[in-house]
Amino acid sequence: MSHPMQWLSDELEELKSSGLYNRIRTLASPQGAYLVVDGKRVLNFCSNNYLGLANHPRLVEAARSAVGQYGVGPAAVRSIAGTTELHLELERRLAAFKGARATITFQSGFNANLGCIPAVVGKEDAVFSDELNHASIIDGCRLSGAAIVRYAHTQTEDLRKQLQETRSRYRRALVITDGVFSMEGDIAPLDQIASVAKEFEAMLMVDDAHGEGVLGRGGRGIVDHFSLHGQVDIEVGTLSKAFGVVGGIVAGSPELVDWLRQRARPFLFSSAMTIPDTAACLAALDLLESSTELVDRLWENAGYFKDELKRLGFDTGRSVTPITPIMLGEATLANAFSRALFEEGVFAMAIGYPTVPQGRARIRVMISAAHDRKDLDQGLARFAKVGRDLGVIRG
Ligand code: PMP
Repeated sequence: MSHPMQWLSDELEELKSSGLYNRIRTLASPQGAYLVVDGKRVLNFCSNNYLGLANHPRLVEAARSAVGQYGVGPAAVRSIAGTTELHLELERRLAAFKGARATITFQSGFNANLGCIPAVVGKEDAVFSDELNHASIIDGCRLSGAAIVRYAHTQTEDLRKQLQETRSRYRRALVITDGVFSMEGDIAPLDQIASVAKEFEAMLMVDDAHGEGVLGRGGRGIVDHFSLHGQVDIEVGTLSKAFGVVGGIVAGSPELVDWLRQRARPFLFSSAMTIPDTAACLAALDLLESSTELVDRLWENAGYFKDELKRLGFDTGRSVTPITPIMLGEATLANAFSRALFEEGVFAMAIGYPTVPQGRARIRVMISAAHDRKDLDQGLARFAKVGRDLGVIRG
């Protein structure tokens, strides 16, 4: 008789033999243009540290000083004894920054989606969801018990068709899309999606994890980017990427925020965002409000890197943001490319099936304001060398 947990070893073996086992690398340095990864100093093209804030002295100092004043742990959920004046200040400041009426924060973007979706839809309702939406949206939808109707990636006409066919069967409808798609780097046509949602009396939610601090004026997010203030019912964001810390946000009406305080389960049943994180996010807001320099540098870097990659002969897919895929096709090639880059001192992730469809494997480069021109040129030279060695580009 085998042990009841024997299946674990079998499954892990299967992952390893099929090449799908994820070997997680270890860092021994702060975030920045360079990292020490598995003992080696490498140029960093992997982190979501868009603005270079993860190790910014102003954020570090804000966290340190808040710890001195309030200590470390939240010791309670927000609805019992975990809401400090810092949490409320952050929520007020985020609303003012984004031009939203109100916001509520969560421990992460993942929790924001898990908390929000089941609080606004249930068994009698339907969610209309872009087929490439993030895992946390998919999980939030499943938890809600609502029917899930997928529409073709960014295809507003397909969304309209699905709503036309099924909207009348449900009490409430919720259209959900990622703002910036994390594997492609393309942007949802939120203005068109908003008008379709309105036509069918559907609520509209966007998950702007990769647009928060990146898109819009001075990083005010996707709603600002499309000038859709007041027309998007639920704007989810994260403080874990451009903001350089960790945490999630939902922005919307004061009634929505009030409702989430009553009903969002990660808010009610998981301890509050920590004090140092909350204080560091306030310092990030100070920086974003005082200057657009970091956001401007991010976009300048992203534009330069993408143009140069194309000039070298690489295919950067549909990307129009700092998320830069280098399309390679087969997962074996993408993995070999990533390993060769690492040998050359460049840390860039290979992404293959099942994260992206079979045959659409790629390297994903995350550009940051922490990179300077020299870093980008060095990265491009290494991409060119590995691309030639592996026969991806000529010359
Ligand atoms: N939504 C999207 C679209 C994301 O890319 C991510 C992060 N990978 C999340 C939500 C989760 O954010 P967090 O890391 O703050 O939990």
